[in-house]
Amino acid sequence: MSILNEPFFKKVEDYFNVHTYKADRVDKVELRPWIDMFRMPPDLEREALDFTKACVKCGDTMHPFRMRKGKNGRFTKSMYYAATCSQDDNKTCSKGPLAHKEYKAITTYFKKEKGKRRPPTKQLMLF
Ligand SMILES: [Zn+2]
Repeated sequence: MSILNEPFFKKVEDYFNVHTYKADRVDKVELRPWIDMFRMPPDLEREALDFTKACVKCGDTMHPFRMRKGKNGRFTKSMYYAATCSQDDNKTCSKGPLAHKEYKAITTYFKKEKGKRRPPTKQLMLF
């Protein structure tokens, strides 16, 4: 199932930062756009990292919201969305038409939503 159909999507949709690459114009199946997430409030960030769904390819339960690893192998503060198992778990999942279809669906969704969207407002620190 696409993340677009998950109830949790509504909670995090404003944080999706979908990039469009020039290569999008070339219809290559290997194309795997990265979908970054804007910085979330800590509670929501934790919820996103705990959130699980089925891999669009193999159906295994996995964590679609992950922290990017830096060059030193440590996790950074930048989160991204992945439609499939991580490369470490199952190398073949991220390749192929099903993963591509999911990224395409998300890209299309946000293209349509464009104009209605605004970047998430920074939360005021009250305490
Ligand atoms: Zn998988």
